[in-house]
Amino acid sequence: MTAQTLLKDFPLDRRLDRHQALGLIDIADLEPLLAAAAQRRDAAHGDRVSYSRKVFIPLTQLCRDVCHYCTFAHPPRKGERAFLTRDEVLAIAEAGKRAGCKEALFTLGDKPELRYRIAREELEALGHKTTLSYLAEMADLVWRETGLLPHLNPGLLDDEDFRALRPVSISQGIMLETISERLCGKGKPHHGSPDKIPAARIDTMKRAGEHAVPFTSGILIGIGETREERIDSLLALRDLNDAHGHIQEIIVQNFRPKPGTLMHDVDAPTLDDHLWTIAVARLLFEPEMNIQAPPNLSPGALQQLVGAGINDWGGVSPVTPDHVNPEAPWPHLEELARATAGAGKLLTERLAIYPSHARHALKWVDQKMRTPLYNLIDADGWPRSDSWCPGRQDAPPAADAALVKPSIPARARFDIQAILDKAQDGALLGEAEIVRLFRARGNDFSAVCQAADELRRRVNGDVVSYVVTRNINYTNICYFKCQFCAFSKGKLSENLRGRPYDIGMDEVARRVSEAWDRGASEVCMQGGIHPSYTGQKYLDICEAVRGAVPQIHLHAFSPLEVSQGAQTLGLPVAEFLGRLQAAGLKSLPGTAAEILDDEVREHLCADKINTQQWLDVMRAAHGLGLRSTATIMFGHIDRYENWARHLMRVRDLQIETGGFTEFVPLPFVHMEAPIYLKGRSRPGPTFREAVLMHAVARLALNPHITNIQASWVKLGPEGVRHCLNAGVNDLGGTLMDESISRSAGASFGQEMTPQQMERMIVSAGRLPRLRNTLYGNAGAEIRERAFAAASAREAGAPVLQVGGVH
Ligand code: SF4
Repeated sequence: MTAQTLLKDFPLDRRLDRHQALGLIDIADLEPLLAAAAQRRDAAHGDRVSYSRKVFIPLTQLCRDVCHYCTFAHPPRKGERAFLTRDEVLAIAEAGKRAGCKEALFTLGDKPELRYRIAREELEALGHKTTLSYLAEMADLVWRETGLLPHLNPGLLDDEDFRALRPVSISQGIMLETISERLCGKGKPHHGSPDKIPAARIDTMKRAGEHAVPFTSGILIGIGETREERIDSLLALRDLNDAHGHIQEIIVQNFRPKPGTLMHDVDAPTLDDHLWTIAVARLLFEPEMNIQAPPNLSPGALQQLVGAGINDWGGVSPVTPDHVNPEAPWPHLEELARATAGAGKLLTERLAIYPSHARHALKWVDQKMRTPLYNLIDADGWPRSDSWCPGRQDAPPAADAALVKPSIPARARFDIQAILDKAQDGALLGEAEIVRLFRARGNDFSAVCQAADELRRRVNGDVVSYVVTRNINYTNICYFKCQFCAFSKGKLSENLRGRPYDIGMDEVARRVSEAWDRGASEVCMQGGIHPSYTGQKYLDICEAVRGAVPQIHLHAFSPLEVSQGAQTLGLPVAEFLGRLQAAGLKSLPGTAAEILDDEVREHLCADKINTQQWLDVMRAAHGLGLRSTATIMFGHIDRYENWARHLMRVRDLQIETGGFTEFVPLPFVHMEAPIYLKGRSRPGPTFREAVLMHAVARLALNPHITNIQASWVKLGPEGVRHCLNAGVNDLGGTLMDESISRSAGASFGQEMTPQQMERMIVSAGRLPRLRNTLYGNAGAEIRERAFAAASAREAGAPVLQVGGVH
């Protein structure tokens, strides 16, 4: 097979084998090779080329090695310290922090104490025996004091070293440089450098994999190796990654001769040679691998590097020079963004740990480092694009807010547009397609919102509905241990808000009557799972409501309560639901869903019903003619894949039963949620993600679920206004006595009268409609009562606490 034939449509699910790669060594025309590599990169990385904003901390420039091309390391110099002091380290890190850096890159010579007495003496004065132990202390200091995430390049490590350094670093790295032992021979660049022996470096990388350390590595080209040796080096890295999955990037670095080194007169590799190597690396690895080339080592050729298949520029510092290549300054970020855009790509900031590994922090990040990481990332492992949080009175971030409804129609990239067309036609989207929509940014984000808005207009017109309802949470005592819940008052939340309560049936009846008098057509009832509650309690609640106001719609009991109620009475779920229905239950809230994916539930709410059980309760309820809502609570430890699966599971059940009335995204309110306070979750979705959840739900559930609701308690009026332009046609309830969101710290849950609700809807250019629970019109009598009660309240009557949909 010729090289051209091999490269034409090289399958994404295959990688070059050694024989195929060797066949490319003498390829005369680079174009097909570069095109195949770029196409493969695009399939996995789209239009992004990433970089990490870093500050470079050269802890020591003494090294026991003597690599012939290196100017970073030097022997001890008179009057110069061997190590940066604590104050110096911190000063550099703080300067980086001020310049917006998120990575502290510790680069240092290899174990200089084994070669130089001054290194041993300084370490002793610093209270350490080894460079690595001083490094651990400095990395710990930097992230604690500045929040910068340390990335460590300390050379060869053993198991004990990894155990010490993993808890103080977000990622680590070592360049393989080459697998060729030949280059350690006399007269060769690695002669006399024990740390450059390939087997030793491979051993370090293998241990990194065993310790689950996200790792960067790569090759250095132009130091005397052959192309065949480059291929073997890349294959060695591939084998390591196949075994452990820890290699998050492959750097293809080009040697540059430096004055004052033994290799000062050796020619640098040509640009074509560099491009060839990048392209071959891209084809040797799966498309998702991150392939990097340092931008400062190829000035004037950045677009060609992108054309050869890289998707990353590595760390770029706005503060410190590249101490390894001091003669080659980093380009300004504006210049890098321009060059990247010139190559048709979008320069995008990442963290030192790549999104691929940050998304799976439980596996790849030490527990100690997860807290700073969670505060910095979105659900896809990228740096958060804003500091907006649901439930707080933050104004939506201007940049993303402006994208929700841009003045001119946005054009999506080809692949996104194809998914949008499919969704608008009512075809079923798969997991990868839904995830792709959640990844939309910039123009693509605008296009997704616009497509959802257009679909909403087609399905619902300009009407925005709402319901007058009262939430009654009968107890906040609960024996479940949901990690996100500040509402329950089990041991987990003892010190959080308020005293435990468990209201009696008289109080239930009183609140129901009061709600009716104030114009509520519905009471929404749910609560903690009190250890003394059995299914009989839920039946009693139904009777109490019916006894108080027979006409009011009883919307009550999450699938968890139904499941627990059935179990405590020893009844099948369907039979218990039938009894509740006979006692007056009319519909169910679709709460306790959180994320319908057990991968998340086992960490978020391990003792709660699982995904299948939630779906089974809903299936049984729908089978009895009891309709329900469906919710998703997102933005904590979940990923886009989990969101996609949740949407698909809800959609598939809806196709089967048709029982869901609406879909309600509930952004995670973190402020007083135990999981966040313990440093084990993100602080909710970003604004872009919160808006996208509504838009993508509109598209992915089309045409099966036609009502998409926004929670004003979690989003605030401004957030709701943007969601109304992204697929939303319902704003849920007005008159509530809701304590669940407020327990988690939400501050919007004060009051929303029907008048205010309608003003909000009209100000968004839409038409308000007061509905009942099942989306019929509420009727004139209800409307009159609701508006009159609200007016009376404005005139001084007691105010009911108003919250939001749980
Ligand atoms: S979410 Fe519900 S079940 Fe879980 S702890 Fe809170 S009140 Fe209990």
